[in-house]
Amino acid sequence: MADLAIRALDGSTKVLAPDTVAALRGRLRGAVALPGEDGYDAARSIWNAMIDRHPGLVVRCLGAADVINAVKVARDEKLLIAVRSGGHNIAGSAVCDGGLLIDLSLMKSVRVDPASRMARVEPGATLADFDREAQAFALATPLGINSTTGVAGLTLGGGFGWTTRKFALTIDNLISADVVTADAKLVRASEKENADLFWALRGGGGNFGVVTSFEFKLHPLGPEVLSGLIVHPLEKASELLPKFCRIAKEAPDKLTIWVVMRKAPPLPFLPAEWHGKEVLIFAACYSGDMKEGEKAVKPLRALGAPIVDVISPHPFTGWQSAFDPLLTPGARNYWKSHDFNDLPDAAIKAIIDAVRTLPSPECEVFIAHVGGAMARVAANATAWPNRDAHFIMNAHSRWRDKAQDRAGVAWARQLFEATAPFASGSVYVNFMPEDENDRVANAYGSNYRRLAEIKRRYDPDNLFRMNQNIRASH
Ligand SMILES: Cc1cc2nc3c(=O)[nH]c(=O)nc-3n(C[C@H](O)[C@H](O)[C@H](O)COP(=O)(O)OP(=O)(O)OC[C@H]3O[C@@H](n4cnc5c(N)ncnc54)[C@H](O)[C@@H]3O)c2cc1C
Repeated sequence: MADLAIRALDGSTKVLAPDTVAALRGRLRGAVALPGEDGYDAARSIWNAMIDRHPGLVVRCLGAADVINAVKVARDEKLLIAVRSGGHNIAGSAVCDGGLLIDLSLMKSVRVDPASRMARVEPGATLADFDREAQAFALATPLGINSTTGVAGLTLGGGFGWTTRKFALTIDNLISADVVTADAKLVRASEKENADLFWALRGGGGNFGVVTSFEFKLHPLGPEVLSGLIVHPLEKASELLPKFCRIAKEAPDKLTIWVVMRKAPPLPFLPAEWHGKEVLIFAACYSGDMKEGEKAVKPLRALGAPIVDVISPHPFTGWQSAFDPLLTPGARNYWKSHDFNDLPDAAIKAIIDAVRTLPSPECEVFIAHVGGAMARVAANATAWPNRDAHFIMNAHSRWRDKAQDRAGVAWARQLFEATAPFASGSVYVNFMPEDENDRVANAYGSNYRRLAEIKRRYDPDNLFRMNQNIRASH
């Protein structure tokens, strides 16, 4: 084998001698994949097709020992590294150009202990992997709404979904994490061990090390939940959305209602004449008793004259993947996101105007409904700062043809600008695209200083920099 050119942390190109690569191969339970070798393209391909990067070397890890070996080489040789789990992040930070990619996607084990209601999860597991195992015992922890998302990146950014108002954020259900730190040591982080690291991991993203195992608390839920969609014509949105805001703010913790506005997909339960027309969708999930749930969704059901209302008992695992067909991997994507404490009429108007000018049929606006149990955890209890009851708007711009890149990005940016005057200023780090590194301090607000201090202790040289990067304090 010839010398291998790899990108270094300082941006220069470093040459790895064949012996170094051979020694690394020899130490792994998993594999090294160089460009052209088996597994190389699978490891570097991620959900957002806008990101097409070519690492110099991939370590396809099968366990913590492989991660330790990969971090050791990166640290000793001062190589640029990226860490990939589910590969879902919009910013594409899971893959680097030219550097060393630590690929965790093969580490997918999920072990549920129904007696103690705990789950131990490896970083390559997707939400679907987790839910399938936990739902075998009618147990769950709050995760996101698209089942192909990785548990690891979602958790490290904070994590919220259909059950967050009832059971809080994903990080609020994290008991411990095994972490390979920048000095290539495996440590455990929990409330009792390395408590500062544990605090930072809960929202601080991939800034502090490589997590090789997560331990979660589980809650009884399912196997069926009252859930489904109510679809209205977009024309009714300016009348219905203010009423939705009131209902959402007064809703019990067990009820979560998200809004989706887009061109209607060809859903089998939707009359064909609506396919491709702009619609307002309320997506609701009740995390509790069915009869109680029927009562709780009444005010939502009483709004206007829907085209269809398909809220009924559904298997929780099915509901957790209900939006998968709209969010398949392989499209070109660009997102912009704002947090809102409230959605005043002017913000609603700006959103509706944007939905009337979608640049491609797959573009959409999602408005997540959070708060409840999440809002009752102190803002400084974890790195995630914005706990207030609020809405999270995401402009999902999505298209297939590279020639549409400019229009797709411009649409999301325009909606972002138009709604900025009404937004709270904070943002969920996991919804930030790659050109938003200047929003990181705002995203963490009053928690940023402590994060910078912990970064200084655990990763002073910023080895873990392919992320929404926190700069070490000096
Ligand atoms: C279609 C779609 C729907 C989504 N829906 C939701 C939702 O409902 N709720 C929600 O909370 N989020 C949601 N997200 C955002 C999601 O949480 C992030 O994209 C998250 O980063 C995905 O995790 P991953 O493991 O797939 O990330 P990857 O792309 O693999 O990694 C992203 C970054 O996380 C860090 N990282 C990943 N794994 C590790 C690890 N083991 N150790 C250390 N650092 C690591 C690295 O910095 C890496 O660059 C959604 C994303 C998409 C694309």
